[in-house]
Amino acid sequence: TSFGFEQVKEGNKQPLVNDVFHKVAERYDLMNDLMSGGMHRLWKDAFVAWLNPPQRSASPFKLLDVAGGTGDISFRVVDRAKGNAHSTVFDINGSMLGVGRDRARDKGLMDNLDFVQGNAEDLPFEDNSFDAYTIAYGIRNVPRIDKALSEAHRVLKRGGRIMVLEFSNVEMPVLDKVYDLFSFHAIPKIGGLVTGDAESYSYLVESIRKFPNQARFKAMIEGAGFAQVSFRNLSGGISAMHSGWKL
Ligand code: SAM
Repeated sequence: TSFGFEQVKEGNKQPLVNDVFHKVAERYDLMNDLMSGGMHRLWKDAFVAWLNPPQRSASPFKLLDVAGGTGDISFRVVDRAKGNAHSTVFDINGSMLGVGRDRARDKGLMDNLDFVQGNAEDLPFEDNSFDAYTIAYGIRNVPRIDKALSEAHRVLKRGGRIMVLEFSNVEMPVLDKVYDLFSFHAIPKIGGLVTGDAESYSYLVESIRKFPNQARFKAMIEGAGFAQVSFRNLSGGISAMHSGWKL
C-alpha cells in the first residue's frame, strides 16, 4: 500500500486505522489467535472476570463496549452475566461490526446486543446512561485519548465503571527482549502471510510501542475524573487492564 506510516501524525491517523481494520475484519479473529498464540482469549477472560457483571439485578447490566469490533468482550460479558446484560457494541468500522453482527445472529444473542457505528471521541449517547464502559485493544487506536476518556466519563452512570484492556509495557527482564523481537519481526510477517498486508501489522506494532505505560495511563484515566483507578498486568505486562469508577 501507499501509506508512509512514519509520516502519519497522531491527530490524522484515523483514516489509516480505519483502513487497517477494514482490510483485516474477515480474518481479525484468526489473526488474534495466531499472533498471541491464543493468549488474547485468556486476557479477555481475565478482563471480564475482573469486571464481574452481576447475574441478577433490578434491571439488566448495561454495557457500552467501545471499539468493540467483532464483539469478543460483549459476548463474554453476556455469557458471564448468564444473560443478565445488554451490550452496545460500538465501533467506527462497519466491516468489524458486520462480522460481530453475524456472530450474534449465529449464537442467537441479538436480544442482548446491538451494534452502533461511530467515533469513541464523540459518543452518540446520553449522559449517565451505562453501568460500565469497556474498551479492549481499542484505545491506542484513538487519536485523542483524552477526548475518549472524558466521553466515557460523561456516558457512565454515577457508580459506573470504566475498564480498559490494552497492550502495555513488559515489566519482566528477558521477556521484554523476546517480546520485542517477536513483535518487530514475527507479527508483520504472520500478518503479511495471512492477510497479504504486512504494513497494516507494522502499524499495529508501532501503535503498541507508542502507547503510555501502566502508570502514565492510570494518570490519564484519573485526569478524566475517574476515582479508585488501578491496574493489573497480564503475562508480565504484555497486556494490562485498568479499572476506574465514576463516583
Ligand atoms: N475490542 C475488540 C477485541 O478486543 O477483539 C476489537 C479490538 S480491535 C484491535 C480495535 C478496534 O478499534 C477496531 O475494530 C477499530 O475499528 C476500532 N476503532 C479504532 N478507532 C476507533 C474510534 N476512534 N472509535 C471507535 N472505534 C475505533
